[in-house]
Amino acid sequence: MKLSGLRFSIKTKLTIATLLPLAVAIFFYFLAGSIILEAKMAAQAREKVRSDLNVAREAYQSELSRVTDVVRFTAGFSSTAQAVDSGDREAVAQILSPVRQNEHLDLIGAVDASGRVICRPDNPSQFGDDMMGDQFVSRALRGEVVAGTTVLPVAALAREGSALLRQAQLAREALLHGGLFLMVAAPVRDRAGVVLGAIYGAVLLNNNHALADRISGVVYEGAPEREGGRASLFLGDLAIAGQLKQPAGGRGTGARLSGELYRMVLLRDTTWVGRTLAAGEWYLTAYQPIRSLQGVPIGALQVGIRESQYSAVKTDMAFLLSGVILVSGLIGLAVSGALAGRLAQPVKELAILARRLAAGEKEVRSQIASRDEIGELAESFNEMSLALREREDRIIDLNRNLEQKVELRTGELEDKNRLLVQTREELLRVEKLAAIGELAAGVAHEINNPMAIIRGNTELLQLSLPEEDPNREEVDTILAQVKRVERIVSSLLQFARCEQRAQGTVRLPTLLHRIVEQIGHQEPLDGISVVESYAPEVELVAGDADQLQQVFANLVLNAVQAMPKGGVLTVESSLGPEGEGYQVRVRDTGPGIPQEELSQIFNPFFTTKATGTGLGLSVSYGIIKEHAGYIEVESAPGEGSCFCVSLPS
Ligand code: ADP
Repeated sequence: MKLSGLRFSIKTKLTIATLLPLAVAIFFYFLAGSIILEAKMAAQAREKVRSDLNVAREAYQSELSRVTDVVRFTAGFSSTAQAVDSGDREAVAQILSPVRQNEHLDLIGAVDASGRVICRPDNPSQFGDDMMGDQFVSRALRGEVVAGTTVLPVAALAREGSALLRQAQLAREALLHGGLFLMVAAPVRDRAGVVLGAIYGAVLLNNNHALADRISGVVYEGAPEREGGRASLFLGDLAIAGQLKQPAGGRGTGARLSGELYRMVLLRDTTWVGRTLAAGEWYLTAYQPIRSLQGVPIGALQVGIRESQYSAVKTDMAFLLSGVILVSGLIGLAVSGALAGRLAQPVKELAILARRLAAGEKEVRSQIASRDEIGELAESFNEMSLALREREDRIIDLNRNLEQKVELRTGELEDKNRLLVQTREELLRVEKLAAIGELAAGVAHEINNPMAIIRGNTELLQLSLPEEDPNREEVDTILAQVKRVERIVSSLLQFARCEQRAQGTVRLPTLLHRIVEQIGHQEPLDGISVVESYAPEVELVAGDADQLQQVFANLVLNAVQAMPKGGVLTVESSLGPEGEGYQVRVRDTGPGIPQEELSQIFNPFFTTKATGTGLGLSVSYGIIKEHAGYIEVESAPGEGSCFCVSLPS
């Protein structure tokens, strides 16, 4: 049988696992119980039949005792002795007839001391014959009361009376064997005890159903029909009286014993117990031989019960056993079902928890606390849940770190990019400056000589003209413009030269203070208040004194020029950021620089001033670069400007 396609729950499997051995045990118990029951019942039934047989025997014997008593008492009467002694047939018949009638004897008679029949009340004409040959009579005449079972041949029956002959006639069979009798003979004595004769009496067993019924009544306690019991009498192998019911309603006399029964009971003289079939029904039957005075089996006493009777008990017992087994099986089913349910419940719980865990829920813990394998499973599940959570936390941490790193690297990359752009711009500017410088140097060189001639001649002209000469003003103007051109040319040369800075030291506060002091010679400081603040830590710094002077002077000049209507000029020095190098700040409260101009102010020739050259900041930028520093500017329109020069110390 292929079970792989079927899906059984743990509960079902556990129930089956528990019930299967139980079912096997129940099956074998049932089998063993049935076998034992069968054997026990059969043995008990046999035992009952055997004991029934004994009871029947007792009943049979008590009938014999009754006849014995009747015959003995009758023989003991003095009137009987007188009648026998006198040989008066009439008198004897008068004594014996009522006895036969009242005591339900089938046969009665009297013999004299020589064994001759005095009188047969039922057949008065038959007398005088010799009965000495009869065991009972001869022994009675010897003074003994003799009782027993005997067979009287047909001739003897005929002598006793034709009525007896008819009474002995069996239903189906011609009278072959004669009649079976319970017979008693007792001596009749005179006062001196001398045997005068004998009285014999008997009860015919052929067709004596009343006796058989009486025996049955004793054996089956008055209810032979209910028990299906029967008691029967056999003469030889012929049924002569009893419960052998015929389908037609009559008694089944004349039936014969089977060959085996005949052999066992009559020939071997043994008691037989077994199954027999009668009138289509099975009986459990027991047979016992009935013996003659000589101890020879001449007939049989039989009792039996209907097998269905004990089969019914057996069936009842089997039903009872089945009921007990069924009930215990059902209890087993209920108990194993409940147990299996209890065992399967935690497994189901774990499955639900596992699903919740798989769905991403945290802190999933099993509360199962049993001390068996399921408890271990729950513990392992909890450990797994904890390990999963820890691992997840670690992954989240790693992720977060990774994101931070990516962010950091991206920032660094952006910085590098910005630097690259700056460097490129720087490079462009440097290249541009270099080109401009080259050009400017050539131009300046070419202009310098003619300018020197113009200046010399103009000065000579100035000297040659008196103060009041009307042309004197034009000559002065020419000289002033020549000086301006010279200044431009000098700036150009300076810009173009890009001289290497001289290695030296500068006393910074002194330098800055001198610049502030001297600026007034170049530009009027009307309305401008000056604030100087020099950090004492920044005193002696490395650098080219002239070049640095030029740079700071330029920045101060620009600041002053940005405040034509006055303001505050601040010049301060301080240590560089993180204590590295130093910084110089020049701050004004002028109009500030518009955003769009901020990127251009360091370009050469960019100027917003009428007389400006646009070279101041670009030259300064070059010098500071040469000193490995940088210039930054912070400015917004209306808020003034602050130029910050950072230099290494
Ligand atoms: P110039 O001073 O000859 O114009 P610079 O190179 O020194 O040349 O300055 C270039 C330009 O930068 C100036 O024309 C001016 O527009 C601007 N500038 C420089 N310094 C300041 C300042 N302190 N305030 C406002 N503008 C300034």
